[in-house]
Amino acid sequence: MLRYAFLAVVSAIATFAQPVPKQDQNLNATLWVQGSAEYAALATQTYRAAGLALSAALADPNWTAAYEQTNDFRGLPAAVILDLDETVLDNSTIQGRWIKTGEPFTEAAFMAWAKEVRAGAVPGAVAFLHVAILKGVAPFYITNRLCNAGDPNDPTVKMLKELRIPFSPERLFCKTAGSNKTDRRKLVTEKYRVLLLIGDDFNDFTAVPESVEDRAKLQKFYEPMWGTKWFVLPNPMYGSWERAVGTDLVKKWNALRP
Ligand SMILES: [Mg+2]
Repeated sequence: MLRYAFLAVVSAIATFAQPVPKQDQNLNATLWVQGSAEYAALATQTYRAAGLALSAALADPNWTAAYEQTNDFRGLPAAVILDLDETVLDNSTIQGRWIKTGEPFTEAAFMAWAKEVRAGAVPGAVAFLHVAILKGVAPFYITNRLCNAGDPNDPTVKMLKELRIPFSPERLFCKTAGSNKTDRRKLVTEKYRVLLLIGDDFNDFTAVPESVEDRAKLQKFYEPMWGTKWFVLPNPMYGSWERAVGTDLVKKWNALRP
């Protein structure tokens, strides 16, 4: 009897020594990005399809993927525009850490993570970018990270170099006054013909309204663009889709369609 009591105490101590797993809204989403073969396959599939579209786009001088491109673009050099976070850079490590520590997302906490220079590359992204370079297509990055493209010691610049991602300072557009990317896309279109847009958030493609219903309508309106000129990476962890629902747990609960 005493022996069982002893084992029960040892077992209890062992249980307390382990951090207790917490239920977190982002647990499943982050595990899927970090560990599922399906996520890696889907990202690879997206970039492979984008690579095929690149050839079609190059061959057609009337092709542009940017609605901001209103100039006569037929003689301009070719470019592609990509977002960075969860499009080229995989930040699921910090999402996992925040789940374990309970720390909420803040811009400062994200910048502290960026300074670690430990992001991964989204599967398929680096290969796609090198194919683009070989084809003479200039990759532009439009990000809502706070960064300084001209500073070699900037964490985002260091991260891109570390992952051997094609980079030149004049082709990295960091966050400006707001997070709307329309003006920065417009800047690229002034000197380049934009072949493809690649991102993980609807706002990486066009300015998007805030409500779930309006976003759904706009998604349908742009139906011909998906998989032809616009390519989306999956990001179930965060994004403007979540803000549209409401980050409050009760709002999320009420938004479910049971
Ligand atoms: Mg992103």
